[in-house]
Amino acid sequence: MNTTWQSGLEYIQELDNGTLQMPTGSPPSEVRYSDSDSLNGNNTGSLETETRDSQILAEPGDDDAPVTPLTPAKRGHWFPKQAYSKLYFSFETNQPGPISYIIHLEIEQDQDSYPRYLTLSLDGEPFAENIWIDEDGYHTSTGTPVIYGVGEHTITITINYGAHAEKGWLLKHFWVYDLDGNPLDVTGQFTHKEGHCNLRYLVEMGPDTTLNLAIENGWETHTRICDIYVDDTFITSRTVPANLEIDLGDYIDSSVHELRLDIYWQGYTECGKKITILQVHHRGAFIELDYRSDHKPDDAFISYFESYYKCYSYHRVDIRVDESLAFSDTLHPPEISALHDNHFQHKKQYTQQAGNIDWLWCLFAHYIWESGGYYGGDSIVFPDQAWKDWCFWNWRDISSARRTVLMHEFGHYLGMPHYYDNTDCPCPDCCYAHRLDCIDSDPTYCVWHWQRGAYYESIWHDVCNSTSGWTRKGPGSGFEGYRTLQDSGTLHTKKDYLYCTQIAGTSSWKHGPLFVKELHTSVEIQDIRSLQAKMQLIDGNTMGDVIITLFDTNKERSIVFCLYDSWYGSVSRSYFDYSKAGDEHDNWYEGEHYGNFTATWLFGCNPESITFLTSELDDGTPKTHTHYSGNEFNPERKIKYIGIQFARARYYNYHGHLGRVLDLVIRYHFDRPGISPLVCAANDESDTVNMQSSPLSETDWKLHPSIDSDYFSSSSPFSLHIRSIMTLPQVSKWSHVNSNQNIQRTMH
Ligand SMILES: [Zn+2]
Ligand SMILES: [Zn+2]
Ligand SMILES: [Zn+2]
Ligand SMILES: [Zn+2]
Repeated sequence: MNTTWQSGLEYIQELDNGTLQMPTGSPPSEVRYSDSDSLNGNNTGSLETETRDSQILAEPGDDDAPVTPLTPAKRGHWFPKQAYSKLYFSFETNQPGPISYIIHLEIEQDQDSYPRYLTLSLDGEPFAENIWIDEDGYHTSTGTPVIYGVGEHTITITINYGAHAEKGWLLKHFWVYDLDGNPLDVTGQFTHKEGHCNLRYLVEMGPDTTLNLAIENGWETHTRICDIYVDDTFITSRTVPANLEIDLGDYIDSSVHELRLDIYWQGYTECGKKITILQVHHRGAFIELDYRSDHKPDDAFISYFESYYKCYSYHRVDIRVDESLAFSDTLHPPEISALHDNHFQHKKQYTQQAGNIDWLWCLFAHYIWESGGYYGGDSIVFPDQAWKDWCFWNWRDISSARRTVLMHEFGHYLGMPHYYDNTDCPCPDCCYAHRLDCIDSDPTYCVWHWQRGAYYESIWHDVCNSTSGWTRKGPGSGFEGYRTLQDSGTLHTKKDYLYCTQIAGTSSWKHGPLFVKELHTSVEIQDIRSLQAKMQLIDGNTMGDVIITLFDTNKERSIVFCLYDSWYGSVSRSYFDYSKAGDEHDNWYEGEHYGNFTATWLFGCNPESITFLTSELDDGTPKTHTHYSGNEFNPERKIKYIGIQFARARYYNYHGHLGRVLDLVIRYHFDRPGISPLVCAANDESDTVNMQSSPLSETDWKLHPSIDSDYFSSSSPFSLHIRSIMTLPQVSKWSHVNSNQNIQRTMH
């Protein structure tokens, strides 16, 4: 059988006796619904841009570390406070062997202050012993001993001595790969031996956060209690083994929190219980699905689709099957547009407070003017009958076709393009691969595609425990200081904060040095999800300012956080300032402080409407503030540097180590939800016309060896998890979403 895209279409055409026409060129322009711009921002740019390319350079692939969207370590997973501190993970080999697999680990030193020894074991037998780990952590791939056959094995990661400090060491990444870099299925994590077995994870949360947790018996079979905490606040107590779906509550969108599982009476044996599902997710998007009465979507498709996003990202996508529509034969753009206007109940609905939650409309039609599928603005159109025909002739299952095509179209909404030169993605399980490959498998997004979607986020993080990389910028540097720039002053670190001493006294009122780091890539203000800065002032009868600034590509100030100390510890204040290019700035002044205080600043653009700048300050009494809105600031202004300025007042004593910067995090992503219409799975000519882009050439692609092409042969590493999460009892998902006002914003 001829198995190309095109031949499939020919079958459909033959079957339908010419009903299904395949025009070349772009579809009529009416298909771009007029409201889509206001809903999804004004990103009409091309699908392949220079910045997207730079983004890849700044991501985990950078240092040749194999990347997966999520690992069992989540954003971080602390080793238990025990003399022999152990974490156990099980994985499944997929080749008869004999073969040595690769364990990739990222471990960071957290609260422990001494170097330790690390040991890796396979099924209880050490194979890498007494590896010295210190403040530089451990970021290495290690080969396992040769393994025979297909089956489950356990890796133990041991740090001795790990009982010195709570949260001494943090696991940031764990995965197992074969020699080609294909990820294997990590099947679970075993508990360690401890009376109250504490497992602490850093996870991303947001509005309506849910935990899917499945715990099975390991080496012991008693029913036990499992208490669940978020940021040390008790949430619920359950008995395990169990397969649970737990409501964790509402949090600021994409904020990071500590999830703690406390499993009782695990002191009798190692590996007493086995965690097989641990997924945390919050609202990402909703899809209202209307269908022609004889094309109602099946439950297996919906379950797979929804489970996929829960497993692969911290964002959940919920399908709400809505209306059954009257018969129609082949729909053309004007008819689709009319159906959209008349039947999309949630048009333009999203929730400001809750972050980036959009409603999309999906229509299951009979045939449409192009055969494969359509995405544009807030709409997805799926020609169900065309795919039923295709499945009939190709011996495929319609449910598989639905999940593949809907993931493909929804991926466009997240900002994912087709592959280079509009070809099929070379990863066979990717829903952008050739249809005959991916429809047979459990469709996924390959890493190449994940990195181009809005749910994939880049993070710049400085934990402020080292002065290296901070470069002094003096008066002649071109940087626009918040206070008068001067060259004197020395930057120091005291384990977990930065401070400055020896600023020369001068007659200038506030003056001092600026230390700058250049970001991996310049980022438009609208692409910055958040800048978070943690700063501290200890009362010491001293005075002066500590200032964090983001600078644009012209070295002009934009966002400024300032801890301001007015007079020998009497009164301190905090400022947030946004300086436009030029001189104008907004000067938000926040209340008075006496004595010591720690300020956690958060700045961000509103993700729904990139015309707002908001900031938050939590210094014991949380406050939020809206800065420029409307067209008062330029959302495309490019940020390139972050700086810390320390400023002394004339000859008065400066704070020295009492004025501190503890932590700096910038979170950004380049792919705002797309709005460009894409007609998919059609012939190449019309697709190319609709791409509105100049895809990168093969040469550009070769510049990024860290995401090498071997990666594309990967199977879907999460497939088992997806199947098991699908069996979960579904809570009533819709109880929270009847009105936007129901969503509470909670500070934690
Ligand atoms: Zn979110
Ligand atoms: Zn509807
Ligand atoms: Zn792909
Ligand atoms: Zn497409």
